[in-house]
Amino acid sequence: MLDFTLTPEQLSLQKKAREFALKEILPVAWYYDEIHETPMHLLRKAFDAGIMNGDIPVEYGGPGAGLLDGVIVTEELAAACPGLATSIFDNSLGMEPLILSSNDALKEKYLPKIAKDFKLICFATSEPTMGSDVSGIRCEAREEGDHWVLNGTKYWITNGGIADYMSVFATADAESKHQGICAFIVERDWDGVSSGKTIQKIGQRASNTSSLNFKNVKVPKENVLAAPGDGFVLAMKTFGRTRPAIGAFAVGAARSAMEFAIDYAKRRRTFGAPIANYQAIQFKIAEMFQKVETARLLVWKAAWEADQGLDPTLTASLAKMYSSEMAQEVLGEALQILAGYGYTKWFPIEKLMRDTRLFKIYEGTSEIQRIIISGFALGTYEPAMPPLEDLPMQREVDPEEKASGQAVWRCRMCGYVHHGEEPPDECPSCFFPKTAFKKV
Ligand SMILES: Cc1cc2nc3c(=O)[nH]c(=O)nc-3n(C[C@H](O)[C@H](O)[C@H](O)COP(=O)(O)OP(=O)(O)OC[C@H]3O[C@@H](n4cnc5c(N)ncnc54)[C@H](O)[C@@H]3O)c2cc1C
Repeated sequence: MLDFTLTPEQLSLQKKAREFALKEILPVAWYYDEIHETPMHLLRKAFDAGIMNGDIPVEYGGPGAGLLDGVIVTEELAAACPGLATSIFDNSLGMEPLILSSNDALKEKYLPKIAKDFKLICFATSEPTMGSDVSGIRCEAREEGDHWVLNGTKYWITNGGIADYMSVFATADAESKHQGICAFIVERDWDGVSSGKTIQKIGQRASNTSSLNFKNVKVPKENVLAAPGDGFVLAMKTFGRTRPAIGAFAVGAARSAMEFAIDYAKRRRTFGAPIANYQAIQFKIAEMFQKVETARLLVWKAAWEADQGLDPTLTASLAKMYSSEMAQEVLGEALQILAGYGYTKWFPIEKLMRDTRLFKIYEGTSEIQRIIISGFALGTYEPAMPPLEDLPMQREVDPEEKASGQAVWRCRMCGYVHHGEEPPDECPSCFFPKTAFKKV
């Protein structure tokens, strides 16, 4: 049975997140964008309000919420400010490898602290020389007695400048690519750990993005998230569970842009009437509405699959790719409806436009999502239709030929159909030899 009804708990979570977004985030979103700063007090408020860390399992002191709950909250936060939503959601990204790992002692060590003590945890795979190709990690992990030693740099790390803990992916042997990838939980105040200056971005400026540097950082063995060879799969599994949230960011941001455009269209008058009276504008709004709704369905489906214990990888990629591209299309049309005012800094469209541009980049670019989706479509996808060469004839069957009861041969090259005990020596249509014919 399929059911799109939200439970009373989900509805109240949605209400709580929406109220938080409208009361706490929206009024300051432009200010923190302008000064390019992550307001720590707001992250703290999100923590206190219980709209952060929803995915920490109950046994470790969290609410044990599902991914569907997570995307419902994320949509609301991103509707007010995608940048702040990214920084608030980042704990979920940072601790997902820990939740997925088999190291229960490590979960016991960190998850209760994150749940109770307002600790931030970031996620670090990307480096200055690589982002998409996770198997190309260069940050080095060397085993030495009872610990590992980390050396290298991570780049583009959301909350990298403010997080207490880090899920760090490294390599024990760069030559062996995927097989060398491992992962650790690292603490900011350990010797040798430092973060670089905040990276200046065009959008999502209220979200901290920094580099992390590790110089001979000693990591105790108990902090291994994934042994060499297991890290790559752990990173991919993490993305399968966090990409739906990127889709939810996009849905929230696009929904806001659509709502601002609807509001404007009802008020703005040209040629003696509100522009909302013109079909050209109505159709734009219809398409914006359709896109937001479609994207949300994909996001919910991916989250639902994960909550059902199914592998969400494919739908997560579909949701992330579709929603992030959808958001840009919707933003483009919203700006068109607001026209001149849409192109100013005094209206919200320009910030949303800058903020949404990132969705096609982080947690796997749109190109990488296409690689995943096409890999499935061309590989493991099981079609319902028979192969082309086994299709029934695509021309009208001559009743006399059919009545003759003779075998039917189809040229696999051009589709020409021949009736007879044997195929012809050569296809009379494309001149391929007899071997091109298949009995159907
Ligand atoms: C604001 C921000 C926050 C981020 N937060 C984090 C974070 O918290 N943690 C983290 O680890 N990373 C983070 N990232 C990094 C992000 O995940 C990477 O930027 C992203 O994965 C792309 O990597 P890249 O920028 O190195 O591009 P590259 O991998 O160098 O790719 C460059 C271009 O080539 C394309 N491309 C690459 N390979 C192929 C291929 N095989 N076929 C076709 N096209 C290809 C890409 O799609 C892209 O268009 C963040 C990035 C930004 C900008």
